[in-house]
Amino acid sequence: MSYVDEVLASVNQKNAHEPEFLQAVTEVLESIRVVVDANEEKFRSVALLERLVEPDRIITFRVPWTDDKGKVHVQRGYRVQYNNAIGPYKGGLRFHPSVYQGILKFLGFEQIFKNALTTLPIGGGKGGSDFDPHGKSDAEVMRFCQAFMTELYKYVGADIDVPAGDIGVGGREVGFLFGQYKRITTSYEGMLTGKGLTFGGSLIRTQATGYGLLYHTEEILKLNGQKLDGAVCAVSGAGNVAIYAIEKAQQLGAKPVTCSDSSGWIYDPDGIDVALLKEVKEVKRARLTEYKAARPNAEYHEGKGVWSVKCDYAFPCATQNELTLDDAKTLKANGCKGVFEGANMPTTLEATKFLQDNGVLFTPGKASNAGGVATSALEMSQNSERLHWSAEEVDERLKNIMYGIADTISEAAEKYGMKGNYVAGANIAGFEKVAEAMLAQGVY
Ligand code: NDP
Repeated sequence: MSYVDEVLASVNQKNAHEPEFLQAVTEVLESIRVVVDANEEKFRSVALLERLVEPDRIITFRVPWTDDKGKVHVQRGYRVQYNNAIGPYKGGLRFHPSVYQGILKFLGFEQIFKNALTTLPIGGGKGGSDFDPHGKSDAEVMRFCQAFMTELYKYVGADIDVPAGDIGVGGREVGFLFGQYKRITTSYEGMLTGKGLTFGGSLIRTQATGYGLLYHTEEILKLNGQKLDGAVCAVSGAGNVAIYAIEKAQQLGAKPVTCSDSSGWIYDPDGIDVALLKEVKEVKRARLTEYKAARPNAEYHEGKGVWSVKCDYAFPCATQNELTLDDAKTLKANGCKGVFEGANMPTTLEATKFLQDNGVLFTPGKASNAGGVATSALEMSQNSERLHWSAEEVDERLKNIMYGIADTISEAAEKYGMKGNYVAGANIAGFEKVAEAMLAQGVY
């Protein structure tokens, strides 16, 4: 049995109850097979893959918090410190009822390769809780964040582990978490990113994942003789990533016509009104029915359906496994020429394969959504040197990083005879960097 198959069999056996994690590991190991096969003896002798798939540590803790009526609730908190071969652990915190260890292991594992692709010195980690911020008051969210950080603070720090936001964790939550860390430790340090602009946050961090996704897309399209200008785009999600992907797509001349949340989706034939979307989602924290109420020409539909809309390019920006094989077939039948992941692993393995086999350009989140973590690393740099860079400077760096990632994954795919397979290119380029660092640092 090949080394990759051996490790996959063992991972499947040990983690059978964590399907998202198995999906992520399978995708990565299958696509680095060619590199591993060429170095099989060397890698096997130091158990490189076994060490890569096993997190350095997972911290699980109880988070008791009190609601506005005085009732006490208990959630589960987690931090998965996956791999720090190339820098301090770095990856977001997710607050969503679906959070369990398997989701955070998948996200932390993906983060290792994503962070390596940014070219910046950051390792992989992820954390969060099964807390649901929907419908909670600001005071309840604050008490929860304070309780969460009261345990987490022991394990994080500017040179150890630097969390950030993710689903359910935006500027409000990061502010509360940072405040509690400072209160407990009295240390004013860049141990969280996505902070407010008045207390160490970076300009463009809020926009970075969505903007970065579009910079990346621009470059991939250029490499393939296509362009965004005039293209109709389908976008899912209505959160941080989706909103700024829509904004940048418009700035680059494209027309995004959809967005969605966990209740339903919008089709707006005139193009999404991004100012209205921000008002509904960032200010009012309301449902998309409010968007429809203000836009008579737009349609609102309950449930899923974004991928049924005819588009040139699709940007899944909500959550994992939201684009299935049936969706991929519909997109292709409707003439879609490219799918660029804004969320983490939003496309199922079967859908990815279908798109790749049918000539639809496809880039994985670990490459195309790396702009968020890259700008977080730029925030860390600014915090370390106690300086604040201009929006233009951060945006220029972000752009260059995203163009660079597109070129790197394209070249890596081509080098191993898989031209245009950006999944393989991203996994191989990320793996080569991390593997080299792990090999140099000895067995640990
Ligand atoms: P937000 O919480 O800001 O927005 C998430 C959006 O997706 C919301 O519209 C939410 O709906 C919807 N959504 C979430 N879960 C589900 C679900 N189970 N079913 C249907 N819709 C759902 O999160 P982000 O925009 O920050 O994150 C979106 C994705 O991008 C995630 O996969 C995240 O890991 C990834 N990502 C985020 C980065 C960042 O910088 N923020 C960086 C890189 C990747 P509702 O409004 O109803 O909650």
